[in-house]
Parts: sequence; structure tokens; C-alpha cells
Amino acid sequence: MRILIVGGGYVGLYTALRLQRQLKRELSSGDIEIVVVSPDPYMTYQPFLPEAAAGSISPRHVVVPLRRVLNHCKVVIGEATEINHTKRVATLTTLATEEEGSHAEQLSYDELVLAPGSISRTLPVPGLADFGIGFKTVEEAIGLRNHVIEQMDIASSTRDPAIRDAALTFVFVGGGYAGVEALGELEDMARYTARYYHNVKPEDMKWILVEASDRILPEVGEEMGRYTVTELRRRNIDVRLHTRLESCADRVAVLSDGARFPTRTLVWTAGVKPHPILAATDLPLNERGRLKCTPELSVEGVSHAWAAGDAAAVPDITASEPGKETAPNAQHAVRQARTLGDNIVRSLRGQPLEAYAHKYVGSVASLGLHKGVAHVYGRKLKGYPAWFMHRVYHLSRVPTFNRKARVLAEWTLAGLFKREIVSLGSLEHPRAEFELAAGGKAPEDPKGSS
Ligand SMILES: Cc1cc2nc3c(=O)[nH]c(=O)nc-3n(C[C@H](O)[C@H](O)[C@H](O)COP(=O)(O)OP(=O)(O)OC[C@H]3O[C@@H](n4cnc5c(N)ncnc54)[C@H](O)[C@@H]3O)c2cc1C
Repeated sequence: MRILIVGGGYVGLYTALRLQRQLKRELSSGDIEIVVVSPDPYMTYQPFLPEAAAGSISPRHVVVPLRRVLNHCKVVIGEATEINHTKRVATLTTLATEEEGSHAEQLSYDELVLAPGSISRTLPVPGLADFGIGFKTVEEAIGLRNHVIEQMDIASSTRDPAIRDAALTFVFVGGGYAGVEALGELEDMARYTARYYHNVKPEDMKWILVEASDRILPEVGEEMGRYTVTELRRRNIDVRLHTRLESCADRVAVLSDGARFPTRTLVWTAGVKPHPILAATDLPLNERGRLKCTPELSVEGVSHAWAAGDAAAVPDITASEPGKETAPNAQHAVRQARTLGDNIVRSLRGQPLEAYAHKYVGSVASLGLHKGVAHVYGRKLKGYPAWFMHRVYHLSRVPTFNRKARVLAEWTLAGLFKREIVSLGSLEHPRAEFELAAGGKAPEDPKGSS
């Protein structure tokens, strides 16, 4: 029999690991095959993306290679584009089908785990599709780091005050942990980097956080959210609550409070929505497009289909009000994956299933080197202790001993040496120099940043 896992993120990786461990005998006898389909050959530990952007962790250590960790599974690099669960068939496009221009592959399965996560939730804001930068992948995080340092180089070398001003204005939209941590880490990195420029001072830069609601970082609670606003403002970061981005056409961020900021950096982290592949299945979705699930993490009303994580609407049976779903975060995704893996094994062995129950324990967030905020198990921490807790917590959570050791080694070395301030933006165009030498035309930078 074949277990198909769509997605190689938190849920995909942890479910496959669990199954791999518990179905050892069946896997080696060939009675069961586990196939993991993922567009990337690695799982991204997203909570480390802000630190990767700041240069505190190298990009390779933020990801976990699927093939090495899932050595008893078959890893297919590709995407599921359609799922017909009634027929138990998934349609996949893989690198091979794209390269050969052949038809998408059909893969039959017996059990399905659907875990494609979420994508950025965008709004029809003029200019957003052309100039917005997301912050969900390691490529985006490293691209943003390079871009910010490049803007400082542009500001340092231009004689045009308008170009300099736009280069040194950084607008972040969305005050959840992705936006706040990315802004906190990058501002901290840029402030440090400025000491190596003769004509760019930290006070020359404008860092702006735009949030539509009345608070930021809801994950750490109201009081810690208020502290974060005060802390960011103390650092001269312009936090604008009750404010929306109305346009960023022509590289000018226009806000609902009337402010206008010419900028070359607009980072969009205003929430997530379920992955669109879910709509290409015959499985039931709720009004927000998440898969309707039971507390046992099976898809409602059908057999042999399972889901968890950002893509799944899982009833929160620990909540006091009925009808609540578990929030889309890593804390739930990891724990749900374990229950999900166990429940698949239980169902194969004809044993009763267990319901998923986890009370949210709070959150930790980093706001730059040695700065943070945390609200975990009722304890509220600020500044250095919160930042330290953030590191300890995520070090304990990042998958595999290998990654833990490498990240710890990097942090330790970083404590002994000065911070990395190099931008390797040219890595994004590795052929540019050779093309120029060969007489061709250098490719244009899509961000228009150089
Ligand atoms: C910058 C950032 C910081 C965060 N920090 C925190 C934090 O501090 N604490 C916390 O609790 N949460 C945090 N989160 C949220 C957390 O990372 C997500 O909730 C978690 O990743 C959800 O797990 P998942 O398995 O559902 O989705 P993901 O981990 O996103 O995995 C989905 C996978 O499916 C793949 N996929 C998508 N479509 C297809 C397809 N058609 N076919 C095959 N594969 C597909 C994707 O490429 C991806 O690998 C953060 C998120 C971001 C972006």
C-alpha cells in the first residue's frame, strides 16, 4: 500500500518521520511505501528566517534536507496540482515532467496526508504584485537581506537625495511574528552595518511598520504586544497601528492615514491563506478555504484522507468557546503531525484513534540581537532574557541533531567575531559576469535594486 504525503514542511516532515519510525517492518518488507511530494528538497524552519535575514544563521542551516532525514521514504520533488480522492489519484508535476514537456504524472495512493501549508494573503493593493516582497521562504529572507544592504550601498553612492531617501526607507506591512521579527532583525542588522559606512547613519534610515489592527504580535498577548510597540518606537521605528497600505504603485507607499513614503523596499507579511491546491481537490473546505478536519485529524466525511497544519481547520477541543479552530502556527503543526502519524498507524492496525488536544502555551519573538519578547506558560519576559529564551526554545525545536549542532556552533562563533555585513546579491544572477564577458546582455534585476 502507498501513503502519499503532499508537502514537505512541518507537517509533511514530522508525519513522515513518525510513520517511518513506527512502520519500520512494513517499510523494509515493501508492504508499505511512503511517498513525500514537495517542491523543494528541504523543509524550511520558518521561525529562523528572520535570523537568517539578519545573518545570524546561514541559509543552509535553516533548512533540513528531506532525502537524508526521510531515508526510508520516497521523496519526489514536484507539486500536486490536483487530487481526486474518490479515485485515490493525485496529479503531480515534477521537474522531469516540466523538463520533458510531458504530461503531469498520475500517482495512485491508499492513504493521503494533505499538508501544503499556506501562502501569503495578499489584497488588491495597486503596485503590490510588482514591488512587494514576501517573507515565507529562505530565498525571500536571504534576498531581502541582500536587498537591504544593497540599498545602503545605493544610498551611500548616489548624489540624488530622492534616490537616497527611497533607498533608506523600509516599509513592512503586517504586525504578526513574521513581520515584526523580520523588521526587528533587519533594522538591528542595518543599524550595525551603518557603522561601516562613512555617509549612512542609523538615523538616516526610516523603518516603518504598518498594521491594520490596534495591536501587533497578538501571539505574545496584549501586554507584551504593547511593550513591543514601545520598544520598537524607542528604536525610532515608526509603528503605525489602525493603518493600511492603500497603494505602492510607482514605488510610493501610500497609507490610509495619508502618509506617503517613496521606498524601494516594501515587505508584505499581512497574514496567510490556505494553499490554493486545496481547491483542486474533491475534499471538503470551510468558508476560509481550509480543509474541514475532525479532532482526530482525518478529513471530515471521507475515509483515508488526513490533514494538519496551516492547511487544516482542526477543532480546538481545549478552547472554552465552541467552534474555535487551532491557529496556523508551528506549535500546532508539529504536535498535530505526531498525532496524525500515530492515528494513521492506529487506523492501519484497527485501533481507536486519538483526538488532538493542545493548549497554546504562548510565544517567543526575537526583535534583533539580544532583544526579544516572550509570553510562555504565563511568564512574561522582555529584552535579553526573552531573546535568550527565544534561542533556547527554537534550538530545542529545530529538527535533527545535526541542525541543532550547526546552529549552536554558528551562534557561538558569532559571539566571538563581528557580525557579517556582506551582501551577496550577485548570487541571484550567477551568470551575469560571464554573459557580460561573452558579449551578451547582463540580465536585469527584477527588483530594480541596482
Ligand atoms: C517568517 C515566519 C516566521 C514564523 N515564526 C513562527 C514562530 O515563531 N512560531 C510558530 O509557532 N510559527 C511560526 N511561523 C508559522 C509556521 O512556520 C507555520 O505555521 C508552519 O510552517 C505550518 O506548517 P505546515 O506543515 O502546515 O506548512 P509549511 O511548513 O509551510 O509546509 C508546507 C509545505 O508544502 C509544500 N507545498 C505547497 N504546495 C504544494 C503542492 N501543491 N504539492 C506539494 N507540496 C506543496 C510547501 O512547499 C511546503 O514545503 C512562522 C512563519 C513564517 C513565515
